[in-house]
Amino acid sequence: MSELEVWAVVVAAGSGDRLAADRPKAFVRFGDATLVAASLAVLDEHDGVSGIVCVVPAGFEERLSLAADDLGASKIAAAVPGGASRAESVACGLAALPDAAHFVLVHDAARPLLSPALVDRVLAGLATGADGVVPALPVTDTVKRVARDGAVVETLVRGELRAVQTPQGFPLAALRDAIERAGDGLAGATDCASLVETAGGRVICVDGDTENLKVTSMSDLARAEEIAARRRAQPERG
Ligand code: C5P
Repeated sequence: MSELEVWAVVVAAGSGDRLAADRPKAFVRFGDATLVAASLAVLDEHDGVSGIVCVVPAGFEERLSLAADDLGASKIAAAVPGGASRAESVACGLAALPDAAHFVLVHDAARPLLSPALVDRVLAGLATGADGVVPALPVTDTVKRVARDGAVVETLVRGELRAVQTPQGFPLAALRDAIERAGDGLAGATDCASLVETAGGRVICVDGDTENLKVTSMSDLARAEEIAARRRAQPERG
């Protein structure tokens, strides 16, 4: 698959209300830059990625371009405004990809600790011909389906459950087709793979990374900062 271009879409257009910051979550300070810059740096440096489109809140396009300049990132082709939901923001990003893009990695800016090794695993999954590849981790909590009134409806079989992360990889045509078919269901999708599954695609799991956490709260941000600081001190970890 080496001759087929892989592009990344980084979705960073969420408001991040739970962080109670004075700016969108992706632009919250992280290390010596921002949350979104951390993901962009990893993807920009990865040899398997040809280019990147970043989806930002309307009005933040210029700020993203400046951040890319600061990083010295050379693969960021565009910063485009997002939509009302994550899935709609993904669609905005896909619309900005060039014809040369064959595969796409969709990544949440809220996960600043993706590693090059994780990107490698997703790319290896794509090379097997899957319609979707998701990094996944076993679930350690017991998970129950609960009704609106709090009554437990059922307890799911923990051994069958996985918590999935980003980046998620797809042949671009498969993801575009799934988004088109989703119609009104698009806004409710919490990840891209679910759209491809619903469209009948074959989605496979690869090993996720326990450190690839999603920053939602202030305590997540503090934990992510600690991991990033440790990695800076021990840069050999992939
Ligand atoms: O809100 P949540 O944490 O689930 O968002 C996951 C990712 O999707 C974040 O990186 C966020 O910036 C992005 N997002 C987006 N457009 C939206 C909502 C979320 O790009 N309308």
